[in-house]
Amino acid sequence: MNNTWDRDVDVLVVGTGAAGLTAAITAAAWGSRTLVVESMPEWGGSTAGGGGEAWLPTNPLSRQAGRDGPPKDGSPVAGPPAAGPPKGDSPKGDSPEKALAYLAAVVGDAGPASSPERRRAFVLTAPEAFTFLADLGVRWTLNRDHPDFYPDRVGGMTGRAVEVRPFDPRDLGPWASNGRLDAVFPLPVRADDVRLIARAAANRDELVRGARVLGRTAWDLARGRHLVSGGAALSASLMTIVLSQCTEVLLSTPLRGFELDRDRRAVTGAILAGPDGRLIRVRVRRGIVLAAGGFARNTSWRLKYHGIPGYSSAADGDTGDVIALAEDIGARLTLMEDAWWGASLALPDGYAFSVFERSLPFSIMVDADGSRFVNESASSVDVGRAMLADRNANPSWLVTDARHHHRYRNSATSGGEGRLRAAGLAHSAGTVEDLAIAIEVDPARLRATVARFNAFARAGVDRDFGRGNNVSDNYYGDPLVGPNPNLGPLEKAPYSAFLMVPGDRGTKGGLLTDTDGRVLDLDGQSITGLYAAGNTAASVMGPADPGPGSAVGAAIVFGYRAARHAAARDR
Ligand SMILES: Cc1cc2nc3c(=O)[nH]c(=O)nc-3n(C[C@H](O)[C@H](O)[C@H](O)COP(=O)(O)OP(=O)(O)OC[C@H]3O[C@@H](n4cnc5c(N)ncnc54)[C@H](O)[C@@H]3O)c2cc1C
Repeated sequence: MNNTWDRDVDVLVVGTGAAGLTAAITAAAWGSRTLVVESMPEWGGSTAGGGGEAWLPTNPLSRQAGRDGPPKDGSPVAGPPAAGPPKGDSPKGDSPEKALAYLAAVVGDAGPASSPERRRAFVLTAPEAFTFLADLGVRWTLNRDHPDFYPDRVGGMTGRAVEVRPFDPRDLGPWASNGRLDAVFPLPVRADDVRLIARAAANRDELVRGARVLGRTAWDLARGRHLVSGGAALSASLMTIVLSQCTEVLLSTPLRGFELDRDRRAVTGAILAGPDGRLIRVRVRRGIVLAAGGFARNTSWRLKYHGIPGYSSAADGDTGDVIALAEDIGARLTLMEDAWWGASLALPDGYAFSVFERSLPFSIMVDADGSRFVNESASSVDVGRAMLADRNANPSWLVTDARHHHRYRNSATSGGEGRLRAAGLAHSAGTVEDLAIAIEVDPARLRATVARFNAFARAGVDRDFGRGNNVSDNYYGDPLVGPNPNLGPLEKAPYSAFLMVPGDRGTKGGLLTDTDGRVLDLDGQSITGLYAAGNTAASVMGPADPGPGSAVGAAIVFGYRAARHAAARDR
């Protein structure tokens, strides 16, 4: 125990992602003197560099407009003026019972991080956290077209995910320049626009919609406005509230340790390292919320828990150091073997997380044997897990024909195809057999794989993997291609292949927490004063990814619950 404190606060929040900023806003709103610290020189974490969709079942917009049927266009908007209470459930709208049934069907029995109590806390608090932030100025909009990833399971729906409307970072003043706001999207596009832009070259209506986004952007730029969208808009929107609450945010100031009470049962303070390396001892009267992301960038933990070094798209600050600090004082870790898996295209200088390339028609993924091994249009987590399960699929190849090349965007080639070829990460050939030789796959096998797939594509039914059988698969398909929008035969030369690795958008394992985000020890007792949310905590989703925005949705809900619980503690 240390009596010489440099600072004295009620709540200390560690990390500036969705979980941390939501926790900071909540703690301050509940009257706590709050301090936020961030290890990196830029704030925002993986949240700011991500897509920013938040899966918040039963939020007021999904209750009104979510539905079981196929997607349609147009989206209602919430935000100031306040979102208001739900107007009652339409038979097709969302409800807590429906969301809980869906989670039970999709996640199943997945251990204590996804206990029925924690799932219930998540579902019942999601609309409250949504409305709390909307009332403070977050301008949510429903991603009306985006289906749950398992829409045919009981309780599955289209239209549970929300995102924040494009945001003008000038509202942040000087804080606009030290956040990770250069973001994932070069243009301020909505999540539902991404697939339209991906296939704009093939579809006149979507070209018009893409051109509108470009026109709007040019108009905004001419007026000196450079709007950001996705995770950058979410982060900027949350940070604006944090700053308006006069909460102090310290960058380049990592958490380095805890101060404990005499019995080592309660956390009473924290040790930070300031930008000059000087240690800062902070007395924390109500609680420390650990919201420092996961361990995607920790190679030794990746090898230990995942068996691969990791090909992550998460932020560099995702080091797992905070999880290790909590483990050192007795916290229990769980779900460490899991991650927000996906399939990433290998680039000369990193990885591009693939969401639409592999799902669009005229393409297949093959392993080192030249065989398909997965429904290429399945959710990212399912495709990534399949790549890890097939010992020949890391790495694998995305094989496309000329129509895929001409009609659709490809994140691998946006930096120039020459660089990819020079690095051996992409190949092209006039025949399937020659492509097979280039990627060192048995030509006869690849020819047979393509022929079998082409027969499925013509019939509209993938008898091997069921690709394109539901509205989630179809979301990133091409509606102009029939009979199945995800299945187009590979028959027009030249053929191309792009190297793919099992990527991720962060890890899922971490500190086991209860329904209020309290960190639990090996005996299942809470460590007084210590909370965790976001990817620092083991995910309430277990190994599953139920719908678009599951990571950010849970980060917001448990950031909110943890801070609310901490702020209510006696000083
Ligand atoms: C390209 C991409 C797209 C994505 N799209 C989506 C999406 O649309 N929807 C979705 O749900 N998920 C998405 N994800 C995943 C999602 O963004 C993350 O899982 C989520 O944002 C994590 O939030 P967080 O608050 O837990 O952590 P983060 O946002 O990573 O924030 C944690 C912060 O803590 C800091 N930190 C680390 N150690 C310390 C320390 N010792 N002291 C102080 N600070 C520390 C880190 O530097 C970081 O800034 C995407 C991810 C990527 C990379």
